[in-house]
Amino acid sequence: MSKKIIVAGAGHGGLTAAALLAKAGFDVTIYERAEEGKCGYDWTDIFDPKALDVVGCPRPEQVGLPWEWKIDMTFFGPNTKDDKKIRQEVPNDPNEMEIKMERSDIYKLLIGFATDSGAKIEYGVNILGPILAGDRVIGIRTDKGDFYADMVIDAAGAESVIRTNLPDCLGIQKHPLWGEKFYVYRAFYDLPVDPKTVEDRYKVMLLPDPGAVGIGWIATEDEFSDLLIGHMDPLTSEEVEEIAARYRKDNPQLGTKKLRGGQMVLIPVRQPLSIMVADGYAAIGDSAFMTVPIIGSGIGNAIKNSKILADTIIADKTETYSAETLWPYQYGYYQKMGKGIAPLALVKLLLTRISHDQLDYAFDKGILTKYEMTITANHTSLWKFLNFDPNLPKRGLAILGDRDLLVKGAGVVADVAACLVVEQFLPKHYSRKAVQTWAKAYDTVFTHRLKKMGKA
Ligand SMILES: Cc1cc2nc3c(=O)[nH]c(=O)nc-3n(C[C@H](O)[C@H](O)[C@H](O)COP(=O)(O)OP(=O)(O)OC[C@H]3O[C@@H](n4cnc5c(N)ncnc54)[C@H](O)[C@@H]3O)c2cc1C
Repeated sequence: MSKKIIVAGAGHGGLTAAALLAKAGFDVTIYERAEEGKCGYDWTDIFDPKALDVVGCPRPEQVGLPWEWKIDMTFFGPNTKDDKKIRQEVPNDPNEMEIKMERSDIYKLLIGFATDSGAKIEYGVNILGPILAGDRVIGIRTDKGDFYADMVIDAAGAESVIRTNLPDCLGIQKHPLWGEKFYVYRAFYDLPVDPKTVEDRYKVMLLPDPGAVGIGWIATEDEFSDLLIGHMDPLTSEEVEEIAARYRKDNPQLGTKKLRGGQMVLIPVRQPLSIMVADGYAAIGDSAFMTVPIIGSGIGNAIKNSKILADTIIADKTETYSAETLWPYQYGYYQKMGKGIAPLALVKLLLTRISHDQLDYAFDKGILTKYEMTITANHTSLWKFLNFDPNLPKRGLAILGDRDLLVKGAGVVADVAACLVVEQFLPKHYSRKAVQTWAKAYDTVFTHRLKKMGKA
């Protein structure tokens, strides 16, 4: 009899894992709280289309779904003038470029892939938590009853009710801390100007809001403007209105009539989860904090890593799906992507302690350049951002000109070095003690910064 797999939540990586496992003969059911046709958000997303190739999912054009290439972003500090703004220069190369699709179309694509491969989906099911036998996950509790399986793949997002209700003895972190998540508001507004008159069509603003750690963007599309406000602290709707009104003063392309979206959603912007597996359990996507910490992109990574997860499950000839036999998934993920992504979380934490003036200084003095800001689909490692250009000595001297900035920069270098050392010791084979000891050391690399700021 084929082994039963539950995918909790129709997260992107959960859907593609479901497809791969169903194709391999597993009995896979996805449980999703949204109703059929209502998955995802009412906006567009950017992701690496090569992720689809990794799992053998058709490209959107093969199934008649629309997409377009992402355009370059232009970055601004809190008070950056036009002559100091930084425009990305993503190479005109399909291997580097990302695509933009409606989130609802991404879901159509991935759900089609999962169901065509033989996976089943139950919509309108609100999962309440895991069912445990001792500390093994054996199913899910839902508002429609209990469902049992040989293992549960947790694809229920950053605040998954499965992960947050696992027993403490498993050592799996439940909630992201302050500084590890963005509260994001996103909506599409009318476009009161001719889009051809807008010079920076994809304007990204770093630390744009006084007194807040956050980012904002205004992307000018042909028929609407796309507003995103992301803060490390929760935002009220009054604050959103106030911030949008302030942006409008310098950005007449941002209209006042809300056309679409308008939700507040959490994005993990942090290092990957330190322990992703337990007996009968594996986390994927936002539930395992797999986003690129600096930009919060998680769709491509969730899809790519679902291949490692599915391969690990298929390779488990013991059919026990224990922490031990699922460990090659986490180990493989860290080797392939996680250990490159984790140090980026330390760079992002700089955003929480750099002042608005210091960021302006970094733009004005050319310390930041188009090389650091050209973040493409392939930027899942710190090393991809490092650029030893001929202006490096000049940029170094500029950093020396602000002692406090230098100290903060040196702090990041020390943290990254510590992270790289700890990553080397990720156990290749599972033992609960060894893995939990490693996880403690790894987590400390990040939490010690937050502790220094009195935030953890
Ligand atoms: C404003 C915004 C913009 C973004 N833009 C991009 C972008 O351009 N590119 C990019 O790559 N990423 C982007 N992201 C991040 C991206 O959304 C996630 O990283 C990505 O969706 C991967 O997460 P996931 O699929 O694992 O989880 P999610 O997208 O959170 O999906 C989890 C699924 O589980 C379901 N679920 C949750 N709880 C329950 C429950 N209790 N019972 C049943 N079902 C449940 C949810 O309904 C959902 O369908 C953006 C996020 C936000 C908020």
